[in-house]
Amino acid sequence: MKVLLMLFSTDYVISMNMWVCTTGTPVNIIVGSHVWVEDPALAWIDGEVSKINKEDAEIRTSNGKTVFANLSKIYPKDMEAPAGGVDDMTKLSYLHEPGVLQNLATRYELNEIYTYTGNILIAINPFQRLPHLYDAHMMEQYKGAPFGELSPHVFAVADVAYRAMINEGKSNSILVSGESGAGKTETTKMIMRYLAYLGGRVATEGRTVEQQVLESNPVLEAFGNAKTVRNNNSSRFGKFVEIQFDKHGRISGAAIRTYLLERSRVCQISDPERNYHCFYLLCAAPPEDIEKYKLGNPKSFHYLNQSNCYELVGISDAHDYLATRRAMDIVGISEREQGEEIDSSVPKDDKSKFHLQMTAELLMCDPLALEDALCKRVMITPEEVIKRSLDPLGATVSRDGLAKTIYCLLFNWLVDTINVSIGQDPNSKSLIGVLDIYGFESFKTNSFEQFCINFTNEKLQQHFNQHVFKMEQEEYTKEQIDWSYIEFVDNQDVLDLIEKKPGGIVALLDEACMFPKSTHETFSQKLYQTFKVHKRFIKPKLSRTDFTIAHYAGEVLYQSDHFLDKNKDYVVPEHQDLLSASKCSFVAGLFPPPPEETTKSSKFSSIGSRFKLQLQQLMETLNSTEPHYIRCVKPNNVLKPAIFENVNIMQQLRCGGVLEAIRISCAGYPTRRTFYEFLNRFGILAPEVLEGNYDEKFACKMMLEKKGLTGFQIGKTKVFLRAGQMAELDARRAEV
Ligand code: ATP
Ligand code: MG
Repeated sequence: MKVLLMLFSTDYVISMNMWVCTTGTPVNIIVGSHVWVEDPALAWIDGEVSKINKEDAEIRTSNGKTVFANLSKIYPKDMEAPAGGVDDMTKLSYLHEPGVLQNLATRYELNEIYTYTGNILIAINPFQRLPHLYDAHMMEQYKGAPFGELSPHVFAVADVAYRAMINEGKSNSILVSGESGAGKTETTKMIMRYLAYLGGRVATEGRTVEQQVLESNPVLEAFGNAKTVRNNNSSRFGKFVEIQFDKHGRISGAAIRTYLLERSRVCQISDPERNYHCFYLLCAAPPEDIEKYKLGNPKSFHYLNQSNCYELVGISDAHDYLATRRAMDIVGISEREQGEEIDSSVPKDDKSKFHLQMTAELLMCDPLALEDALCKRVMITPEEVIKRSLDPLGATVSRDGLAKTIYCLLFNWLVDTINVSIGQDPNSKSLIGVLDIYGFESFKTNSFEQFCINFTNEKLQQHFNQHVFKMEQEEYTKEQIDWSYIEFVDNQDVLDLIEKKPGGIVALLDEACMFPKSTHETFSQKLYQTFKVHKRFIKPKLSRTDFTIAHYAGEVLYQSDHFLDKNKDYVVPEHQDLLSASKCSFVAGLFPPPPEETTKSSKFSSIGSRFKLQLQQLMETLNSTEPHYIRCVKPNNVLKPAIFENVNIMQQLRCGGVLEAIRISCAGYPTRRTFYEFLNRFGILAPEVLEGNYDEKFACKMMLEKKGLTGFQIGKTKVFLRAGQMAELDARRAEV
């Protein structure tokens, strides 16, 4: 699909790779100009042009080097940029990549972690507590304050969403994105806290809805978060929290939807990561609980001792165990349910009768039946039913499969129970949705999980682009300036590649999963054949099973090895039969008998297709709301304060669509100045136009025409300049 953006020039196509504002009008760069030039280590470095030879410039950089660059690759530096930076990128005189980076760096140094790009909030993780930034006084200040009046803040975004919802009766959503460790979950919690502050009631007896909403966070974090190399408290699932409001603007209900909990972590971890927090919390429980649930030192559990990391700096698992139990009380998980909860992993050694006995006791099932379910498979042939023993490897896979299934069902049960307990408000007219979902991922090895995550990000990116277009259009309409059309090439082609039905990767994967003889090799061959000429699909030369997708944020190489296994979503019938017969009603409840099968195809359910459907529903919800975007940025990979890694941050701005938004804005009129501001800066260029009785608007127009500029627009209150025109005027001013 191509989105048409109305713009001034008719032949202007935004290319996906063009990330700086250029217009074909060369900016005046002369000897002595202050400029930005690319630098491999710092992304951009500033310097002064010392020589120009045709198209090439020699630049003395501020770190004492002399470098050479083509004139088209260097960008003017705004020497009048305010010392503390600007709180909105659109206020930058020169809107280009180095300008954006410099502005964020300047602000970050001053602990100004928030900056707007128009309506988008960029939040750079401070990696240190900034308590005053989120205290009650701060919340009070932002309450009802017009957007943009106070410093950029997550509360300001939440406030706008709330006001818009109250005033227009329309649902709003806040989409928080960023890579692992960028601060999405912390930001989401801040939003929820602020909304609870705005829409809460005076505390009455018992639990209020907003309290339950807030306390759902620690419960979900205990079961869905883990320490990873990227983040000590990494969410291993996506989350959309829908907060419902009544007609008085009070919180009246909520619904939590979660996406794709990471299954493999339950059985497989590697140093220095940990398994899900809850296991360590359980091992740190008071002695009576340890005894009751047959717990012990985490080092004695196979699923925990694959890594040497057991403790987290600054975190007490014993304290968090009690805190989680308290939070469970609040969100409505009864004492009985908490007690019955059997989330301990299947103990270590499948040969050991002792462990088998213990597991059977915990799951309240027959030990012999458990042994059979773990070690044997039933085969039904037309003549007879055969029980076949699994080899040790097969039994291990079976054990791990059971553990993963139990854990995922438990997690879903938690979410369902919390939802039932909080309750939905059937009369709610409007809601605010908050999305905390994994950002774009590209690792050394990328599997099915990364595929799903990046699929999500493609979807959100499309939504984002369309929204940014709309906002630009609205601004232009408001200022009553002229339009023509611009063609914008969006990422629909990647989405087609992935989700098209039939024939997209998800569909082909399902087909492969249903066909018993398929292997990851045959699946890959099918992909190579089908997408031979697709420009977003690349077959790597030396591989027979890998494939590359050219995502909007860059190319990602996927290893197809486990795609088929990971896509299959079914509980082994032996496990199903075993546990649905458990005497523990909780365990049996996790394994309800499957519905009567009617057709063979309905029997097959795949993770990929279900996820695709979930995403579709999410997009439908989002499309019915007014969106607000928060882009979280992780300033460094050592998780420490005050370290700002330029190249790393640039990459995130690119993946998060911040540069894309800037690019879209650049294709229009990126520089907007009120008449007054404009005359203040450039009056000196033509003092004569300021004499006499001209009104400001007229004076601006005269001045621009006198200087021979074309393509600009004069709106109702502002001058709209094309990319590069501001720098051009500045250069002329320097000559005066
Ligand atoms: P993941 O995708 O792995 O879940 P995330 O984006 O949700 O990552 P968070 O867990 O929110 O990341 O943040 C990581 C850590 O960064 C937090 O545990 C906290 O230490 C720190 N942090 C994030 N935001 C803030 C903030 N606003 N103030 C102080 N510290 C923060
Ligand atoms: Mg998180």
